[in-house]
Amino acid sequence: MSKVHNVIIIGSGPAGYTAGLYAARAMLEPLMFGGYMSGGQLMLTSDIENFPGYPKGIGGPEMMTELREQAERFGLEVRDQNVESVDVSEQPFKVVVEDETFLANAIIVSTGAESIWLNAPGEEAQKGRGISTCATCDGAFFRDEEVMVIGGGDSACEEATFLTRFASKVTLVHRRDVFKASTIMYERVLNHEKIEIKTFRQVKEWLSDEKGLTGAVLEDPRDGSTESINATGAFIAIGHTPITGFLGGQVEVDDEGYILHKKHTMTSVEGVFAAGDVVDTRYKQAITAAGMGCQAAMDVEKWLEDQH
Ligand code: NDP
Repeated sequence: MSKVHNVIIIGSGPAGYTAGLYAARAMLEPLMFGGYMSGGQLMLTSDIENFPGYPKGIGGPEMMTELREQAERFGLEVRDQNVESVDVSEQPFKVVVEDETFLANAIIVSTGAESIWLNAPGEEAQKGRGISTCATCDGAFFRDEEVMVIGGGDSACEEATFLTRFASKVTLVHRRDVFKASTIMYERVLNHEKIEIKTFRQVKEWLSDEKGLTGAVLEDPRDGSTESINATGAFIAIGHTPITGFLGGQVEVDDEGYILHKKHTMTSVEGVFAAGDVVDTRYKQAITAAGMGCQAAMDVEKWLEDQH
């Protein structure tokens, strides 16, 4: 409890690891709480094709391992534990992890975001029995079966394309006929023989029997007409919500819960910085998160210097 760390980094995706790398190279001896599932959302991603420097692409978990190793080489200490709460009302800040309290002069929050569920009737009972938010984790359970993906963004298109490796058929269900997904991702879906796209459809209710999910009732939001669809697996890819609960409302956030930057990467609390998807309402890319992690570490370094 007595040692006061220069900076504690909370969260271990590309933003956190890049912040860790820069802070370590700045001799700040950063300590990171990476979470029980360290590496963040990219641990659930199959191939990253758009991070510069990887002409052949790279697997999400592989990239996270390399980022971690790179930061650790310069002295980042990573603990694979979740932060339960923080107290940033006075210096030094307190970071509570299980039964221990750690002290720090500065904090970088890079906890990212978590998947949003649909919460349609019948969903809760089928979570883990057919309904998932992670095709990379659960797709292989549905070999030669029919599955569905819900959403119209890059995540939905990526999940649908990935699932064609296993499933006999993938139905992509989207509530509109305009897709948020990038053209390259959407065209992959459009041109795939195993993928059927159903637009203007929303899940009204999930269908199941004693073995698990059997399908869903889909509703057309324009006229309320319904149809049933068969699927033993369903993958919800309708976006993410920022992970900020452990901050207990001490840091200002926007209407959707994203942390607000006040000065560069500093939040409404002096000495608390934030980077990556927990802040980013717009880009949400590995490369932009990494860039912001770098900015946060540099801002911490400058801010700590200014305190003396
Ligand atoms: P997005 O916010 O881009 O898309 C969410 C989709 O879900 C939208 O089509 C939205 O519909 C739909 N949706 C939202 N709520 C509901 C609901 N209640 N019922 C039905 N449908 C709903 O989220 P993503 O997770 O796809 O992407 C987030 C970010 O991550 C983006 O910036 C994306 O580019 C990036 N990303 C990049 C990847 C890559 O480059 N390899 C891979 C995955 C993500 P509507 O369009 O009607 O609002």
